Amino acid sequence: MAEVTHWADIVADEVSNKHEKNVVATGITPSGHIHIGNMREVVTADAVYKSLNDKMHETTLIYLADNFDPLRKVYPFLPEHYSKYVGNPISEIPCPCGECSNYAEHFVKPFLVSMEKLGIEPKVYRADELYKSGYYTEAIKDALVNKDNIAKILTETSGREPKDEWSPFNAICRACGKMTSTKVISFDVDKETVDYICECGFSGSVSMQGGGKLNWRVDWPARWKILGVTVEPFGKDHASRGGSYDTGKRIAKEIFNYEPPYPIVYEWIMLANKGAMSSSTGIVVSIDDMLKVVPPEVLRYLIIKTKPEKHINFDPSIPLLTLIDEYEKLKTMEIEKISTYNKRLLDLSKATGICHTNIPFKHMVTIYQVAHGDSEKILEILERVGYETGNRRCIQELINNVQNWLEMYAPPYAKFSVKETLPAKASNLNKVQRAFLCSLAKIISTNEELSGEQYHNLVYQAKEKGSVVYKDIVQILNIYEDELAINPKDLFKAIYIATLGTDSGPKAGWFLSSLDRNFLISRFTEAAGDMCNEG
Ligand SMILES: [Zn+2]
Ligand SMILES: [Zn+2]
Repeated sequence: MAEVTHWADIVADEVSNKHEKNVVATGITPSGHIHIGNMREVVTADAVYKSLNDKMHETTLIYLADNFDPLRKVYPFLPEHYSKYVGNPISEIPCPCGECSNYAEHFVKPFLVSMEKLGIEPKVYRADELYKSGYYTEAIKDALVNKDNIAKILTETSGREPKDEWSPFNAICRACGKMTSTKVISFDVDKETVDYICECGFSGSVSMQGGGKLNWRVDWPARWKILGVTVEPFGKDHASRGGSYDTGKRIAKEIFNYEPPYPIVYEWIMLANKGAMSSSTGIVVSIDDMLKVVPPEVLRYLIIKTKPEKHINFDPSIPLLTLIDEYEKLKTMEIEKISTYNKRLLDLSKATGICHTNIPFKHMVTIYQVAHGDSEKILEILERVGYETGNRRCIQELINNVQNWLEMYAPPYAKFSVKETLPAKASNLNKVQRAFLCSLAKIISTNEELSGEQYHNLVYQAKEKGSVVYKDIVQILNIYEDELAINPKDLFKAIYIATLGTDSGPKAGWFLSSLDRNFLISRFTEAAGDMCNEG
């Protein structure tokens, strides 16, 4: 198959041909928990930013928190008394927990932490600060002076004609603090003020510098020019015909005399899951919840490997493990065997400052359960089986991911617990199974620490006549070689029954190597019963 260029490189090539330097922008309104769809926006932007950097192109990545937008309604997670703040800018009302400087910060703060975890380091702007420090003032004047032209563009492009009293600028009432109930009646370009009347009965004048804001369809193109934006990913809701990108493009060119940024339209990430959180209801996961289970580089990988215009179905149960496996396999592949495309994909998925270990997630799922979640024990096992344990912080992060996955999303069959005493079910083991466990106990006691792979091979090769285990079983049962037929499935079953009391369990090699060898010797000997006594 011909090598394909990664989508982020295609975008980067195109914009670097067009602009001396680039600004990749993302913008999110922090009016509630910032969800995983928003994470797609910042990871998408970061991929393009990285690609431009790799091409030695001068680039800035920015994140603009739209914290000067009004509170739209009393969201279900808010106490009823927030009804009095509906219509007020979210930078100007109290936060729900009482500990953040304002409502918007309550949601911006954890989002910035999530970005850091994902290795994304944008220059952060807050809309209220930009307005209050005058960044927008020239754009506000242009918009007010060109009000009729803007209204014409909106009508022609979106098909909706603004009302007569419409203004591109919303004043914040000095009496009630709302920006949704005011009407602009006049403005003074020299004094940089806007006069308004408010539904609350108050009328007055505000400064263009922080006394209000441009409404969204005008604000967006204005900021492109103010911040020099050349590339911007945005959700498909903005990309519809007559939507805010369509109107923004014309307003940018015709009013602000600015070339609109290269658009990257991205699709949503849907949560495929059971019960109330079903894909049919379109419920999205918060980034916090997602990063509780998914290692950050895997989340980057998921987003970066998928073309932005394709939607991502995210299933945090077993399919998540499959995704993690896919990533880990790629990461540990010999460099000559990886395709150029996948190499690039890996490059873009990695980020500086991001945690990663060489411990496969699934193996940690096994070790975690063997150790009953005890971090010290987990480290002991990791050292014993030969993993690098220097980076405690990242190992702990992986432990937390695994713990959360087991608690939140793991199906019952992925969970197990090693029984402290021999499970009753072991009394049903047949002769071959007992002889096998006896042989296994012997092999473990006469060897140094066995690796997961060695365990796996021991069981798999047991059915072959020449193997140590086969010979052992024949000898223990005191029969002729031809009389013995072994199905490896029965042997795996014997292992699980003796340790977990169940017919199935985790990958046997990893599982056995995670357990203490003295425990295995005594447990298997006990399960084998009489026939193992002389050993
Ligand atoms: Zn708060
Ligand atoms: Zn008012």
